[in-house]
Amino acid sequence: MTRFVLISDSTLSYEYRNFPLLDFLPCAPGKAIPERVYKFLKGPAPPAKPNGETVFAPYAIRKLEASLLTKFKREEIAVAHEDYLENFVKDDTEIIAVSTMDPLGIGPTTMSYYALFGGNLDAWVRRDWDKLMDRINVVRKGKKAKLIVGGPGVWEFTILRDEIEKYHYDYVFSGEADDIAPMLFDQIASGDIDKNVFRTGFVSYDENFKRVTINDPLFLSRGFSKAAYPRLEEIPRIVAPSMKGMVEVMRGCGVGCDFCEVTLRPLRYEPTENVVAELEINAAAGITNGWLHSDEFFGYKHGNLFAPNEEALSELLTAVMNVKGIKTSNPTHGRVSIPAGYPEMMEKLSKILKTGPRNWIGIQTGVETGSDELAKKHMPNKTLPLRIGPDGSWLDIVWQGVYVETKNYWRPAFTLQVGQNEETEDDNWQTVEMINRLSNSYSEGGRPFEFTVTPLVNVPLGRIKSRSLNTNMLTKDMMAVYYASYRHLSKMATRDGFRDTDGNFLSRIGTGSLISGGGYLMMKYIEKRAAKMGVDIEKVKHYGVEHSREITSLSALARA
Ligand code: SF4
Repeated sequence: MTRFVLISDSTLSYEYRNFPLLDFLPCAPGKAIPERVYKFLKGPAPPAKPNGETVFAPYAIRKLEASLLTKFKREEIAVAHEDYLENFVKDDTEIIAVSTMDPLGIGPTTMSYYALFGGNLDAWVRRDWDKLMDRINVVRKGKKAKLIVGGPGVWEFTILRDEIEKYHYDYVFSGEADDIAPMLFDQIASGDIDKNVFRTGFVSYDENFKRVTINDPLFLSRGFSKAAYPRLEEIPRIVAPSMKGMVEVMRGCGVGCDFCEVTLRPLRYEPTENVVAELEINAAAGITNGWLHSDEFFGYKHGNLFAPNEEALSELLTAVMNVKGIKTSNPTHGRVSIPAGYPEMMEKLSKILKTGPRNWIGIQTGVETGSDELAKKHMPNKTLPLRIGPDGSWLDIVWQGVYVETKNYWRPAFTLQVGQNEETEDDNWQTVEMINRLSNSYSEGGRPFEFTVTPLVNVPLGRIKSRSLNTNMLTKDMMAVYYASYRHLSKMATRDGFRDTDGNFLSRIGTGSLISGGGYLMMKYIEKRAAKMGVDIEKVKHYGVEHSREITSLSALARA
């Protein structure tokens, strides 16, 4: 008997041709990408076991499964493949639990596309979510199975609270549940919720970024008798393979950027043996990459002033690369100031990771701005242990970081923000300057700087609630940042579009053509929109690189 059926938001279950940044594809508006193109770029459907369970599941689902297995029997839990949901949802099924990241399509990346294309909330993430919810509700119709939703995207239901009745959720759970999931499932199944363990309502943040709890009977979160977060030893290891080989190396961050919720969570470092044990599960299923999740990899067991702990990082990566079957590995997120300040350590880590022209290390990095003023205001510790001023400008630090990364075959995927608090026009032009200078720079041996850059727009929650997501969300200077970013992305897509795709010859040709052609079309679309708004296109193209077409050193950067 399957008491609990776990399933993931389907946008998190595809490989997206394993092309860098293509995981963001579902954030695009439905009207901007034809269904045929969307489906092709998503890649083939994920594999299923003969009984209909999924072979690989997103890490959050695997963690939930592991937690439930601490109390329930294996046969009581199924991690279902979307196409075979019926195999598991029967009359005696008690709960269907879904994990999600951006169900309503109002996450930061999705918002950044609405700023360009406007229109209704109909991004592909939301289309796929609606489809999954319809399907689940059809399958459970007439049965007792309750529907609960959790995961990092549930905050979206608190924003668009008025329109979620259609999904017929029994509960939405917000927060980490590794230690309490068995209790949660038991109590929801029996309908007897202990208000000390689980409180109704959700945690949100007020205008001063202070935690507040809002009462709402649909939402559950950790109650007063429980610590706000599980301790490290209460987080069980996954027992079955995760999507794309993801394993967690730490939770929390502590750097303290004022716009970031992660920094409010306590720091928990996974010991090497846990990381290795989870990688072994993945490797046994044929996964050859270890994708190391954290919000700030270089902060793993860091020293004073967030100085990287070279010994701990080397030990961790050595252990990862020694796992039988693991051939490559990359961290999910990391700050750029560490490569800038620690080139020798980066060389050492790169040797351990066996980086090279066919093994680039992709890493997401929040650069956020090109402005010293904004960086100092909103993320004063992000540069540590380097400091804006004594160690150069923020642009100097970022430039030095990308120089070292490119030299060692690391490719950062930068995100930028426009619409920050107290942002000025000049701040955004400094960001344009940063993009242009990096885009025209070369590392050792004449290798062009490798990085992607994705601009995100901060949309006030009130505006999301009012759904007035038209294209006038961007001012001219914000649009200049978008245009400069997409000019660089188009250049990268042309350079790497064919090289970095996988699959057979035909699918590589198809993916490569769509990516390089799509990158160009997107850039031209933004150029047209920007010109229509009155943005000086020639100024954006040359801003910050008037005097030099090639920047190969920090002194050349200063002269550019
Ligand atoms: S470094 Fe990244 S994860 Fe850490 S607080 Fe800043 S934005 Fe958040």
